[in-house]
Amino acid sequence: MLLDLSKAQLKEYALKKGFAQFRGEQIFDAIMNAKPLDKTNLPAEIRNQIAEEYPHFEIVKKLTSKDGTIKYAFRMKDGQVIESVLMNHSYGKTLCVSSQVGCAMGCKFCASSLNGLIRNLSAGEILQQVVMANKDQGGSVKKRAITNIVLMGMGEPLDNYQNVTSFLKLVCDQDGLNFSERNITLSTCGLVPKIYQLADEKHSVTLTVSLHEAEDKKRQEIMPIAKVYSIKEIVDACKYYFQKTGRRVSFEYSLIAGKNDDFAHAERLAAILKGFNCHVNVIALNDVQERHLRGSTLQKTYSFVEKLNSLGVNATKRRSMGEDIEGACGQLRQSVIKEEQ
Ligand code: SAH
Repeated sequence: MLLDLSKAQLKEYALKKGFAQFRGEQIFDAIMNAKPLDKTNLPAEIRNQIAEEYPHFEIVKKLTSKDGTIKYAFRMKDGQVIESVLMNHSYGKTLCVSSQVGCAMGCKFCASSLNGLIRNLSAGEILQQVVMANKDQGGSVKKRAITNIVLMGMGEPLDNYQNVTSFLKLVCDQDGLNFSERNITLSTCGLVPKIYQLADEKHSVTLTVSLHEAEDKKRQEIMPIAKVYSIKEIVDACKYYFQKTGRRVSFEYSLIAGKNDDFAHAERLAAILKGFNCHVNVIALNDVQERHLRGSTLQKTYSFVEKLNSLGVNATKRRSMGEDIEGACGQLRQSVIKEEQ
């Protein structure tokens, strides 16, 4: 797919096809600005030749929340639908993108894995979410409307390592959207070897790990991946990432009523993170209809955060955005088409 190619690669592609090299640049600009093929300045002959490989841009649904959060659903070439969520902050616009259709991780509280993994997204398909939302927000390739990206949508990004890192390269391309990895957050349920790989390959994204429990046995009950990697192995990998990159690591902790939200849990978590310069984002679990787990109360959430702070852990309550449009954490699901059927 042409969306997977950098500007330099598109120039090569143009030459290979027998076009002039600058046609590659035109194709790149058209793609980055989400232009339908018939709106480009390419001659008909070239348009016909690249039509099959040219990205197919389509927003199938756009929902705006009371708090201004927008959920986009995009249909891809093969008909699969993926969702992204745009959040407006005082410092800019953050886009939460999906890295897979569905998810294989099977976390008990999350809607993304309800139907397992359908397929990985290509680098270009992850990029397409940014390109489309950027355009919809009035941005262009030269003047970006999106300031931050979080890989916290559907899917486990480190389970699609190759495509996700190719995406990082594409989205940070100076000729393209010119993001800095520092403005990109990658969230993982803790695929330890991939965290080391990310550090060794000198990435500088903000790494955040979904912990949600401070005890391996309990974590295994809600996150199957905990049977493969222990919390200690995860924290050691995060320390390595910090050492190598100088980037402070965060941990996600979603509070589930009666499961992981007592002071004893906060104490255990503080003991694990002791001496590690990191940050904990606390959020009450968002309801997912099919999941029979409840989020903790607001009061419980605040006291959990306070408890962590009093124990010397840097923690804040994360604002939940877009709940009324099912755009909040863990609510993105495989396909709006299925819902409509
Ligand atoms: N697979 C990655 C990223 C996707 S989910 C990961 O596990 O980190 C982004 C965050 O939302 C994760 O921290 C995930 O554990 C959390 N999450 C999933 N379902 C949730 C729910 N129902 N309520 C609150 N957070 C949830």
